[in-house]
Amino acid sequence: MNNGYEAVIGLETHAELSTDSKIYCDCKNAFGLEVNSQVCPICMGMPGTLPTLNEKVVDYAIMMGHALNCRINRVSKQDRKNYFYPDLPKAYQISQDDTPLCADGYVDIMVNGVERKIGVTRIHIEEDAGKLLHSDKFDGCSLVDLNRCGVPLIEIVSEPDLRSPEEAKVYLETLKSILQYLDICDCKMQEGSIRCDVNVSVHKIGEPFGTRTEMKNVNSFSAAVRGIEYEINRQISVLEAGGTISQETRRWDDVKGESVLMRSKEDAHDYRYFPEPDLRTIVVEQERIDDLKKRIPELPNRKILRYVKDWGVAQKDATFIAENIELAELFDSCMAKGRFSARAYTTWILGDLVKHLNETGKTVSQTKINADNLTDLVESIEKNVISNAGGKKVFAVLLNEDKKVSDLIEQLGLAQVSDTSELEKIADSVLAENEKSVNDYKNGKTNALGYLVGQCMKASKGKANPQMMKEIVLSKLG
Ligand SMILES: [Zn+2]
Repeated sequence: MNNGYEAVIGLETHAELSTDSKIYCDCKNAFGLEVNSQVCPICMGMPGTLPTLNEKVVDYAIMMGHALNCRINRVSKQDRKNYFYPDLPKAYQISQDDTPLCADGYVDIMVNGVERKIGVTRIHIEEDAGKLLHSDKFDGCSLVDLNRCGVPLIEIVSEPDLRSPEEAKVYLETLKSILQYLDICDCKMQEGSIRCDVNVSVHKIGEPFGTRTEMKNVNSFSAAVRGIEYEINRQISVLEAGGTISQETRRWDDVKGESVLMRSKEDAHDYRYFPEPDLRTIVVEQERIDDLKKRIPELPNRKILRYVKDWGVAQKDATFIAENIELAELFDSCMAKGRFSARAYTTWILGDLVKHLNETGKTVSQTKINADNLTDLVESIEKNVISNAGGKKVFAVLLNEDKKVSDLIEQLGLAQVSDTSELEKIADSVLAENEKSVNDYKNGKTNALGYLVGQCMKASKGKANPQMMKEIVLSKLG
């Protein structure tokens, strides 16, 4: 790090859960609908209304807790976090203070080929606030849309275990792909489905941790990386100039590419947490916790480690495949056949298949590619039945049609000629017709060989097995 400094980064990540209804009322949990159309007295915070907890929120949070190796607390409560802001009609947010649903977990990530274990302090459930809209149409006044009020969130708090913007990025991407695997968050960054607050401090290596600042309003992973880089550099320059870092909350302005002071420690918020009296203590039966654990599939971060360590796949490729659940399922079932190398499959999956998916916007299951036909195709190439170029033609058909590879090879006339006597016949006639090149070769012009083999391939209409063809021509040239 710069000038012997090391950064210490912790992240508080908020993810909106994709339940059908909101956390404490029956209003629809949906993005992009007409402003203030998905509201009721409960989520608008009318006096005298009573919240009822959506149990699905508890299930989803427990699933994330399992995925991040947390202890699931069988008993937890909900608390009021009091603050005033126009997008929060109740003037408090229902959250969890000292008894989160999940605690003491970790997540394994891989950064530049190195495995890292990042501690997860806690995961708690809470409600989202509304959204302020600023419009010139109303004399510069702000308007409020309460559709987002009461949308369920989980907040995932990491330990200060991250040491670089790069690690923070991988950590966030890992959380995102896990949420997608569990199908509990739509992960649409542009709709604010995942947001984070960033804590950063710097210290000289070997010295105690420095004072940290908190940065709010980070709405994308790239903004998180830029914000962290900016804050690390800002703190180092303050320290190098003989100054001190004060504990403060800053707001990241991604357009300007800088963080600005929001409030210092002196005017830090006192949220006056107290137990929410309108909701019962959350008590989760052990059986429910165990049942939810059974619903957790092998997660993408585990798959990445397995692909890299067991199958020798490059980290970048492993990540790409693992983060797409369908690609990962295809790759895993191909490898489960135990017949060909990972590389034989990744060439097709990351090449022609991904290209097709990108071009058509389709998903893997919308094509006809599966582990069986892909393995047949790989086998045909490895056994020299068809060339790689022929394989591409077969693959193009397999994308859209449910056909047998062997039938397609015949139909398309792609089978390579590997019959020695047939190849010898071709070689004989080509050599007879190209006496000059034959003499050139014999006089030491070795590049004449390429020309002769090329002529043989042409005479076979590209169907000769190129390796065998070359060997036969060589032996005939003696
Ligand atoms: Zn409502």
